[in-house]
Amino acid sequence: MEQDFVTLTIGATKNIALIAHDSKKAELIKWCQDNKDILEKHNLCGTGTTARMITDKTGLSVKGYNSGPLGGDQQIGAKIVEGRIDFVVFFSDPLTAQPHDPDVKALLRIAQVYDIPIANNKATADFMIKSEYMDTEYNHTVINFRKNIADRANTL
Ligand code: PGA
Repeated sequence: MEQDFVTLTIGATKNIALIAHDSKKAELIKWCQDNKDILEKHNLCGTGTTARMITDKTGLSVKGYNSGPLGGDQQIGAKIVEGRIDFVVFFSDPLTAQPHDPDVKALLRIAQVYDIPIANNKATADFMIKSEYMDTEYNHTVINFRKNIADRANTL
């Protein structure tokens, strides 16, 4: 009998996604600069413009996906589903309407489903980056998606 939940491990080396809406890009770049010694120990990626600007201004290597409004947030959400991104810093703009708001919501939701640490402001990001778990593995409990499909297919 399969379990309803499985234990997954976020490795000691994190796969970190970095995203900032336009009005927050300068703040995220400064945060990356201030935390460069920690961030450079991990694998970094981000939405296209954010990734490019962080690399240009800090020298950190950040793999860029598409720009957010062109699907970059969805790409990052898909990587979370695949287990290839396990830590997100997303400085979103709470005061400006975004054309890709559905994509932003989708990313927040899928991070919640997969129990992925996600910071949406600097204070949260500061607490996360100073966490003892930054240097160690972290085990978390996630829905067993294989069993979930089997149960649904058997009952629907
Ligand atoms: P960008 O996308 O890094 O390409 O600007 C971020 C966003 O708006 O979601």
